[in-house]
Amino acid sequence: MWESSGWILPTVLYAPRFAGWDDVGDTLCPIARSLSVIGDRWTMLLIRELLFGTKRFDEFQAQTGMSSHLLSTRLTRLEEEGVVKRTPYQDRPVRYDYRLTEKGKDLFPVILSLRGWGNEWCGLKTSQKPAVRMVHTGCGGEVGADPTCTTCGERLTPKNVSSSFSKLFARERTHRNTSFGLEKRVRNNSN
Ligand SMILES: [Zn+2]
Repeated sequence: MWESSGWILPTVLYAPRFAGWDDVGDTLCPIARSLSVIGDRWTMLLIRELLFGTKRFDEFQAQTGMSSHLLSTRLTRLEEEGVVKRTPYQDRPVRYDYRLTEKGKDLFPVILSLRGWGNEWCGLKTSQKPAVRMVHTGCGGEVGADPTCTTCGERLTPKNVSSSFSKLFARERTHRNTSFGLEKRVRNNSN
């Protein structure tokens, strides 16, 4: 009918269809491409935990509240994307430790920004001690939302920043572990 009438097909019919979130990785926009890898809250919570030094599956579950299926799916995706690597620490059954790759560690500034934004805008009292105190080990300067140290100008990385939990946040994390049935103490550094 289109041909016989001599009409030209509207170009919208030929335009690539946006089929869903997973296809966002096809765009040239780097922000959309990043979000196709790390754009849900579960994944960013996992990145947070990995930066805190959490390595084990059950500890991720305890601290994030994710179901085992969801956690497994997200970890697999992050491994496929080269953000996370896993190494076995036990046979029968095989159990794995998870760590960030260099690509994963490069998300550190994203976490610093989220932390800074959350402290400013997400209902935390200014009088309250920060949940996590971060210090640049190179100069002892306090770490805020900036990707470089505001005291000495050095680029901040997970390796040159030490983190310590406030008493209340450490208690919250311990409570999460014990509620989940983990007896282990909460780690208190990010390296
Ligand atoms: Zn510094």
